[in-house]
Amino acid sequence: MGTERKDALRFEPPDEASAREIRRALTAWFAAEKRDLPWRRTRDAYAIWVSEAMLQQTRVEVVKDYWPRFLERFPTAEALAEAAEESVLEAGSGLGYYRRARALQAAARVIAAEHGGEFPRDLTAALSLPGVGPYTAGAVLSIAHDVPTALVDGNVERVFARLFGLDGVRGSGPLMRACWDAARFFVERDADAVPPGAWNQALMELGALVCTPKSPRCGACALAALCVAHGEGRAAEIPSPRPRRVPTEVALEIYVVERDGLWLLEQRPPGGLMAGLWEFPTVETTGTGLFPELLAGPLESGLEPEQDLLSIAHGITHHRIRGRVRAARLGGECSEGPRPLTWVAPASASELALTGMARKVAEHLRPEPNG
Ligand code: SF4
Repeated sequence: MGTERKDALRFEPPDEASAREIRRALTAWFAAEKRDLPWRRTRDAYAIWVSEAMLQQTRVEVVKDYWPRFLERFPTAEALAEAAEESVLEAGSGLGYYRRARALQAAARVIAAEHGGEFPRDLTAALSLPGVGPYTAGAVLSIAHDVPTALVDGNVERVFARLFGLDGVRGSGPLMRACWDAARFFVERDADAVPPGAWNQALMELGALVCTPKSPRCGACALAALCVAHGEGRAAEIPSPRPRRVPTEVALEIYVVERDGLWLLEQRPPGGLMAGLWEFPTVETTGTGLFPELLAGPLESGLEPEQDLLSIAHGITHHRIRGRVRAARLGGECSEGPRPLTWVAPASASELALTGMARKVAEHLRPEPNG
């Protein structure tokens, strides 16, 4: 019956004794087993916020490397607010979060102008910052200041779905609502006994290390005795996977124009997909219209393709892109059109904020140092 599924997705708070035991067991496990991650050694809200922005897009091992370098370059919200956009994008380059880097800087400007350079402690004020959603606000406020703010990310969703037998589709509205209810229930009570920052991190850590997507290690889990999915032998089945979306195929021609040892690059338009990033002159040949802005603009008519150099594959949000990379000559003089152009030495290309595709092409074509 239609109502059964709905009921299976309602969070029913556990009785007080079970809730207390869940809190106790999970935070004791976290205290003993948590990873020693660099951003766990600070209570600086700005530094924690930067780590959260990076971790949403990138693996922990990569962030360990990037986070300190980013903070060295932009040690405070004010420093980030005042930095040139190009240098912020360049610092984010390789992490694949240009949009996030831009949003970070936009939020840093609000923090500098309206909050005296301090990440706001108030949830409503934090949520009004550009690019800061309920997860990020909850993470920063709870971890930096122990404000009892809930959070749900993929790890927390999985732990709650299994622990309480919330049998829904990963990332779906009903399951997320039930998980947010659970998150609020736990973090908003007993905040004195169980610090909200430790509680939220313990949930995420359990999801990352023990209650993993495919093979949860229930035998090593501090919550096993209380876990509905484990009790029913269905841990790995909850939550159900999202229906797969078939990626759209896109074919591009990418032109490598070289003159006096320099490459010609174009800057993408300021709005839309991969805004403001640099790429080799590119034309979409599939005609899907999905990348209408991928046109070489002023160069198109003057480009004379020559030999093929390589073919390259790349994936971005539901698109499978195949790029045919060709050497090309400029038929006439290269004039500045609506999109800025630049000539860059191959060795310095990585200092520009490149698209992921351009980065791959550059890495393939750049001569090895010392042959
Ligand atoms: Fe996850 Fe298993 Fe622990 Fe339940 S017992 S929370 S399914 S690891």
